Amino acid sequence: MAQRFALIIDPVGSSEERADFSGTFTVVDAAAPALSVGELSTQRGDGVFETIGVIDGHAQEVTPHLERLANSARICDLPVPNQEQWRQAVAVAAAACPAGEGAVKLILSRGVEHGPTPTAWVTAAPVADFSEVRATGVTVVTLDRGYPLDVAERSPWLLLGAKTLSYAVNMAALREARRRGADDAIFLSSDGFVLEAPTASLILRFGDRFVTPAPTGGILHGTTQLSVFEYLSGQGFETGYEQVPASALSTADAAWLVSSIRLVAPITAIDAHSLPVDPLTAALTEYLLSPRP
Ligand code: PLP
Repeated sequence: MAQRFALIIDPVGSSEERADFSGTFTVVDAAAPALSVGELSTQRGDGVFETIGVIDGHAQEVTPHLERLANSARICDLPVPNQEQWRQAVAVAAAACPAGEGAVKLILSRGVEHGPTPTAWVTAAPVADFSEVRATGVTVVTLDRGYPLDVAERSPWLLLGAKTLSYAVNMAALREARRRGADDAIFLSSDGFVLEAPTASLILRFGDRFVTPAPTGGILHGTTQLSVFEYLSGQGFETGYEQVPASALSTADAAWLVSSIRLVAPITAIDAHSLPVDPLTAALTEYLLSPRP
């Protein structure tokens, strides 16, 4: 889908305070070339990003996304973004999104090779219609990610807790899932624990208890999963972060993949095991489509 809006940010220090950062933004033609061929984001995937859902011009859950962007930057030894500067850039981009559902993408790259500063930019675009998949769901296969659960502590240079631009592996996993006849994938650790999907978090239901894999094993802490847990707690359900063995997947009563743009995709099969679409799915979707601060 064509980009509709783009702005380049001239990053300032994380502690710089200003009421108005608009002088540090340059709106550019989203269809015109804007990056140097020396950009390390394109040469090496060396940078971090966030994708924020926008509904009728309202950017959802901006603070958790900005906090995760800062955390990803820290893990990658990139300068920590100035939260207020990026918050204002998100507001400008979200206002440029057409009515309906859109996405604002934030990118912070290591910049041009041997250059003085990181490159930072924000885009806004409408998104595909996910209403069908939110209602009818996805089938998934489990795929071995090839690392043990404690890989993040043992090998932090793999940057597994950061949302880096290096998503080629995640995209390859989705292609493998499709080759195996499924819509999506769930990564397992090499020692047999459940992790996440290539572009989404996993939530499992066991009776009235909802569980997601603890975000300590080098997985991304999903902003949508946090929102869903808040909603579920408010409805009186028990929620928890746990180490989930792969064997638990076949005992779940229901399961969902959740993420900022697709929102909720109920899982209708994990490998050979079928699952019903839980009646809560519609309420979760409705909640995630409502404006959240
Ligand atoms: N895990 C991975 C690997 C992701 O790429 C994403 C989103 O892109 C998520 C989880 C879900 O994160 P969020 O709910 O913040 O979109």
